Amino acid sequence: MQWPFSRRANALTSSAIREILKVTEQPDMISFAGGLPSAATFPVEAMQAATQKVLSEQAESALQYGPSEGFGKLREWVATTYSRDGAEVRPSQVLLTTGSQQALDLIAKALIDPGSRILVETPTYLGALQAFSLFEPQYVSVASDEQGVLPEALTAEVIAGARFLYALPNFQNPTGRRLPLSRREALAAIAREHGLPVIEDDPYGDLDYQGERLTSLRSLAPQQVIHLGSFSKVLAPGLRLGYVIADESLIAKLVQIKQAADLHTPSFTQQVVYEIVSQGFLEEHIPEIRALYAERCHAMLAALAQYMPQGVQWNRPEGGMFIWVTLPESLDSTELLTEAIRERVAFVPGAPFYATAPQSHTLRLSFVTVDPVRIDEGIRRLGRLIANQLGGAAEHLPLV
Ligand code: PMP
Repeated sequence: MQWPFSRRANALTSSAIREILKVTEQPDMISFAGGLPSAATFPVEAMQAATQKVLSEQAESALQYGPSEGFGKLREWVATTYSRDGAEVRPSQVLLTTGSQQALDLIAKALIDPGSRILVETPTYLGALQAFSLFEPQYVSVASDEQGVLPEALTAEVIAGARFLYALPNFQNPTGRRLPLSRREALAAIAREHGLPVIEDDPYGDLDYQGERLTSLRSLAPQQVIHLGSFSKVLAPGLRLGYVIADESLIAKLVQIKQAADLHTPSFTQQVVYEIVSQGFLEEHIPEIRALYAERCHAMLAALAQYMPQGVQWNRPEGGMFIWVTLPESLDSTELLTEAIRERVAFVPGAPFYATAPQSHTLRLSFVTVDPVRIDEGIRRLGRLIANQLGGAAEHLPLV
């Protein structure tokens, strides 16, 4: 059958990550490739209890159609939780979405016309590029370093006519980097001065190993910033539950677009999650996730220091799920991956995370789903492969 695909659909290519995940699902593979949270953190018992309660006490509303804006009590909970930063959030400024990925899609539909200039970090989250690209924008990659986007790169010329800046201030996917407070303030000042909309995508903000949250962009520029949050990394991604916090005038437009997409996010899921979070569950649960991820992050950092040959660089994340590795420029991480899979170890090449000018000597490592012993073994294998590709420049590698 020759489907009469739209221009949009024809332009789609399958995600490099999804293609790789197919191979990395094999059981003997040590995979640092997935962006998945650790299943060990899933709140199975709390879900059982909450599900039971919702079905026995409020089945009628939980199984019925609900408001497109989301379950009222959960909107209130999000508003109260986010008011802690000092900038008040009203429930009417909250829209519950089917994962924060849906929020990216709704915002793209609301704000991007073909050819619209949109500003993204270098590199940036691949899933956002997929959501935005369907609406045919013109990307501008804003210069960034190991701490995140450089405010001074946002000159009046770069900003002029841009529909928005897409920013990931906390433990960015893919690099794991966190934007320092001074840059947050500078970005917020630019947003306020130029009326530049900023999307603050923040699924990892709670996963700060020290539990020291930095002020959100939204609290620094409440009118310009569209804040995206998610229950995927603090409860479970299979719930598909996220939220947008933004000015009411944008929320109203997103609600219209969401109605066309899915009417509303499942009532049942929202009510179950409300039962869990309103009991204060996250206050105990999040520190457990942080402790597990911090342990695995440190295991990977130690293994990198032990096994990587000279010339390989990586960052030291203070939270989140990812480490970003920069190889010597002569190496190509996609070629390295082919060999790595033969050695039963996997990662994600960095190139697809660049909206423009891909850097093919970069790669992303996720440490959260692998235990420390296998982290050590996987990094040892990778270190050996990289050393081989560099032509045996690895005198200090153990001979095993
Ligand atoms: N934004 C970023 C930066 C992410 O890493 C992810 C998940 N990988 C998402 C959004 C989508 O998350 P959700 O499960 O809430 O749709």
